[in-house]
Amino acid sequence: MGKVLTIGNPLLRKVSKNVENIQEILPFIEELFNTMIEEEGVGIAAPQYGYNINLFIMYSKSNSRYPDAPESEPIILINPKIIECSEETEYGLEGCLSVPKMRGIVKRYKWLKVQYTDINGNIVEETFEGFIARIFQHEYDHLNGLLYIDRVEKQEDLFFL
Ligand code: ZN
Repeated sequence: MGKVLTIGNPLLRKVSKNVENIQEILPFIEELFNTMIEEEGVGIAAPQYGYNINLFIMYSKSNSRYPDAPESEPIILINPKIIECSEETEYGLEGCLSVPKMRGIVKRYKWLKVQYTDINGNIVEETFEGFIARIFQHEYDHLNGLLYIDRVEKQEDLFFL
């Protein structure tokens, strides 16, 4: 607990580099995963932990922070890329472990076709939609130094808890 960097830390604003050696970062992935579970996140990106590498974890699961989240298996995404995205967008509520005590309404693509390397080094192509596509876009933004609050379009769409 308490290891997640919060807004104001410059490491959250850096552009991440690709992972070259998966074996080397396995202990880090485990730590990142455990932190996400402890903090009840539905996703976490390496830069939130101070490592500016292209890696994030998604784990959509109903919890106290996101009671309506759909259930999915955890997915570890290394060097993820967006291949294609929907023309349709939708607005939805987001929060972030790095932006405590806030929520905001953010516009995201409805679905995405993506490519990433899995933990075994295999290249995977997958399509995500709805809330999972939203998590992907939120975490992917972290790899580029962006936070969801940068995408909130108007003041009224940002809420303090
Ligand atoms: Zn976040």
